[in-house]
Amino acid sequence: MTVTINEEYQEIREGVRALCAQYPDAYHRKVDEDRAYPEAYVEALTREGWMAALIPETYGGSGLGLTEASVIMEEINRSGGNSGACHGQMYNMNTLIRHGSEAQKRAYLPRIAAGELRLQSMAVTEPTTGTDTTKIKTTAVKKGDRYVINGQKVWISRVQHSDLMILLARTTPLADVKRKSDGLSIFLVDIREAMQSGMMVKPIANMVNHETNELFFDNLEIPEENLIGEEGMGFRYILTGLNAERALIAAECIGDGYWFTERVRTYVSEREVFGRPIGQNQGVQFPIAEAFIEIEAANLMRFDACRRYDAGLDCGTQANMAKYLAAKASWEAANACLQFHGGFGFATEYDVERKFRETRLYQVAPISTNLILSYIAEHVLNLPRSF
Ligand SMILES: Cc1cc2nc3c(=O)[nH]c(=O)nc-3n(C[C@H](O)[C@H](O)[C@H](O)COP(=O)(O)OP(=O)(O)OC[C@H]3O[C@@H](n4cnc5c(N)ncnc54)[C@H](O)[C@@H]3O)c2cc1C
Repeated sequence: MTVTINEEYQEIREGVRALCAQYPDAYHRKVDEDRAYPEAYVEALTREGWMAALIPETYGGSGLGLTEASVIMEEINRSGGNSGACHGQMYNMNTLIRHGSEAQKRAYLPRIAAGELRLQSMAVTEPTTGTDTTKIKTTAVKKGDRYVINGQKVWISRVQHSDLMILLARTTPLADVKRKSDGLSIFLVDIREAMQSGMMVKPIANMVNHETNELFFDNLEIPEENLIGEEGMGFRYILTGLNAERALIAAECIGDGYWFTERVRTYVSEREVFGRPIGQNQGVQFPIAEAFIEIEAANLMRFDACRRYDAGLDCGTQANMAKYLAAKASWEAANACLQFHGGFGFATEYDVERKFRETRLYQVAPISTNLILSYIAEHVLNLPRSF
């Protein structure tokens, strides 16, 4: 299938594709059926250096930008895998690289680059506040040279397969700050240590094979040197990570979109009903063509967001729009793919139903479609604030 701008970054694409070819559909299907973590796959991606793409060369990584990182994520999804198992390391890394101290970077980045440590988790969402992030109730109170954490988080992914986690907590009560986004701070949490001393992890069974959890903090003490950047500035720091996350998720959706269109294109060209390939019917062709057009358009916005991020420019608008367009396009491609596989779309062995479930998540997480529309309405179109 000829694609437009996807001819770029061929070297990265070929490298990731070669690795992914060793983990065919049957591997991902089995991991999904077993509700397991794709340990061997993530290990191979780490060993070949792809998980350290964003780490500067001085700390042992490859020093690539978000654009290249997004190509890696796209190729994983395009090959039939699910970046959800490992994408946390990409966007969390940028939070540490951009806002961490030199001592923190020296302590962690070389070990992450070498594959000795994983930084796969970020804990923001809470059960009682949801998308209203500045209202989070988890607190971090300074006591001597430590912060004491109390509260609860929900939907925190990959905790059981990560060594480190970035945690957002309130250090100054909401009533005592000028702006609601002030007084929040981010910390680096050593997951194994925390599980011995005040953090409880409760897995959440869910529709996708996505390792995600409830977290409970009961007087968890973390050393003050684990504060990232300045106290009270955490919300701004986390936004850097969230913009990177949105651009990366957009790339993953684009990878999914190409996977669905390629699968359905092949299937409808071969499947014969009423004495001709079903793909000869325009009623079948048009939804596929429409989804493909939208994937290509979303791809342009995704590269715009990534390039702005890499140039140090504000990219909130582009990252949000890219995520919106790409999640919508991949979902339309998923629907067309399932629909035109007929009954076989529901059979596990075709992998369509698995990818269908996986790509559906991105309408809701890491930010719901409605909240993106709200961002664009208020921050780009200057419409009155609704909340
Ligand atoms: C599998 C999975 C993995 C996740 N991993 C992580 C993770 O690693 N770390 C983390 O911190 N979080 C994670 N999340 C949480 C995710 O970011 C949130 O689920 C998402 O941001 C939506 O928040 P919520 O579930 O609290 O929904 P709510 O905030 O309760 O919103 C529910 C729905 O209501 C609508 N809505 C809400 N407010 C408005 C409004 N003002 N205007 C219009 N519509 C509105 C939206 O459609 C939204 O989808 C994960 C979630 C899932 C499902």
